[in-house]
Amino acid sequence: MSGIVRKRDSLFIGGQWQQPTSAANISWVNPFTEEVFGSLPAASERDVDTAVAAAQSAFASWRDTPAAERAATLHRFAETLENRAEERAQLVSQENGMAIELARFAEGVAPVQLLRYYADLVASGAADQEVRQSQPFPGVTRITRKPVGVVAAIAPWNFPAILSMFKIAPALAAGCAVVLKPSPETSLDSYVLAEASVEAGLPAGLLSVVPGDAELGRYLVSHPGVAKVAFTGSTRAGREIGKQCGELIRPVTLELGGKSAAVVLDDADVDATVQGLAAASFINCGQTCYASTRILLPSGRYDEFSEAIASMAASLPVGDPMDPSTVIGPLASDKQRERVLSYIDLGRSGGARVLTGGGTPDSQDRGFFVEPTVFGDVTPDSEIAREEIFGPVVVLLAYDGEDDAIAIANDSAYGLGGTVWSADVAHADAIADRMDSGSVGINGFSLDWNSPFGGVKDSGVGRELGPEGLAAYQQTQSVFHN
Ligand code: NAD
Repeated sequence: MSGIVRKRDSLFIGGQWQQPTSAANISWVNPFTEEVFGSLPAASERDVDTAVAAAQSAFASWRDTPAAERAATLHRFAETLENRAEERAQLVSQENGMAIELARFAEGVAPVQLLRYYADLVASGAADQEVRQSQPFPGVTRITRKPVGVVAAIAPWNFPAILSMFKIAPALAAGCAVVLKPSPETSLDSYVLAEASVEAGLPAGLLSVVPGDAELGRYLVSHPGVAKVAFTGSTRAGREIGKQCGELIRPVTLELGGKSAAVVLDDADVDATVQGLAAASFINCGQTCYASTRILLPSGRYDEFSEAIASMAASLPVGDPMDPSTVIGPLASDKQRERVLSYIDLGRSGGARVLTGGGTPDSQDRGFFVEPTVFGDVTPDSEIAREEIFGPVVVLLAYDGEDDAIAIANDSAYGLGGTVWSADVAHADAIADRMDSGSVGINGFSLDWNSPFGGVKDSGVGRELGPEGLAAYQQTQSVFHN
């Protein structure tokens, strides 16, 4: 294949660069240039077998490595990865079109911060053991938290580096070994991760990378050597993985889709709110699981807010994702663009009004772009108000009174993110408490490494981040002292 910018010939398995056992290749195009960007070998089932076996043998000694030593190793890993942060951010931006300033933080810096956070958490020892007074009989019980074993970590293409690290950092900190299956479109950046792990002296086999498609993912999920599955991706795939794990009685964390509500309260300041919504609703071109893509407005201020939101969306800088001033780059693939455009058609034909956007931008002569799009006159039961579009498309819904706002916000199959916008933080907090969602932001949305993140309903099962994210890779043993 000619014109390939980045090419890899080997696979990182068991701490070594190995020749793939199949001739199958993965290649993909840069969504801005529409030219073939990268090519690498697809792992085969045999490669997965080798990776799992190496992980099992690494786990046998890593599980008994003292927490302080595990933490020191993770700190070295953080350092070697930090040296490659800019390179990794640029790779991701070229793989999936993410605006470079966002990639610098989310895909470059944040994975390093997560390694450090979990290293410090296990080094503190707080999570390892506790002794409780027994009930009803006298005595004490010692509770130990042990690593679950080999983890199959499966990541999507929208935030490949950080979502992989949501799993790798707590799993390694807990004493587990990881086999990572990145998304086929965004596997190249995980080569940087692998190289940094070697440079940091991570024991061989503790981390392997097996690029491949859904079929390879299925094989990994049900592999007899895997003890736990951690998945981020679509609700459709999550349902299938959940079924497989149910059959196998295998612990699983599922971080899935969303259609989160932004509840704008009557007292919200229009400028501050609309500026905040630019990030909360359009982050990564709307290809963000927790994005606030349903904006609920008080009917008395509907016109004022809808005008301001439409003009904010129209002013978002669209362009080359490698240009630091860009906010809206292309969507990650042609397929994703087609999917988003078909939802826009559905919105129009269902009677919703396009307030801005609604097509592909004239300013761009190449790239998988969709204009930031705002739909008004949307009814809560329409497809565009209920289904995850995963693009730069928001819908505006009017509500009458806060009970109505809560009813609309909670009338969703999903429950992952959400935001409340108000001048009165205590009041916004009370509204957040009534939302059926795993996480809610007040006057903005930002993840917190120290607090759990995850969904309810079709948005998933289990939590990542915080001490809860570590617990997801541990199982407890109770020793009763009679
Ligand atoms: P996807 O489900 O198609 O694929 C995700 C990953 O799973 C890929 O690596 C894919 O190869 C693999 N896969 C797919 N089917 C599988 C199966 N049956 N068994 C094992 N592996 C399988 O999702 P996507 O299109 O890559 O990502 C977009 C979706 O991810 C959106 O729905 C988005 O909301 C969701 N997402 C959720 C979160 C979260 O934290 N909740 C974060 C980011 C993205």
